[in-house]
Amino acid sequence: MTYDRSNVFARILRGEIPCDKVYEDEHVLAFRDIRPQAPTHVLVIPKGSYVSFEDFSEKASEAEIIAFVRALGQVARSEGASEGGWRLLANNGADARQEVPHLHVHLFAGRDLGPMLSRL
Ligand code: AMP
Repeated sequence: MTYDRSNVFARILRGEIPCDKVYEDEHVLAFRDIRPQAPTHVLVIPKGSYVSFEDFSEKASEAEIIAFVRALGQVARSEGASEGGWRLLANNGADARQEVPHLHVHLFAGRDLGPMLSRL
């Protein structure tokens, strides 16, 4: 899939629309989800133009991958989630109902997060 430069997270990265930033480094930005589904609901995104986790896993540099994984743990710690626990979720493609075509990992914490998936 070709990267769509008009997606909302690309616009946040370009500073065209604001975000509630919680973490930033050379390769990664993390900010609060605009429609939080838990007391802590942070989106962690690479600054590079990757559509999905699959795209990132194939094309990102080792430096980008290391920074991304480290940032996930850093955000969990800085949000005070270590003791209670936390969950990562990355929707990849249509069946996962990925809405924004720029890789983002949801980090949830702050309450019992319930079962892993609904059984429909
Ligand atoms: P997904 O379904 O995994 O693609 O999730 C997309 C997420 O992006 C949703 O949880 C939205 O609430 C969130 N979102 C959309 N626009 C914004 C925005 N401008 N700032 C923060 N979060 C956003």
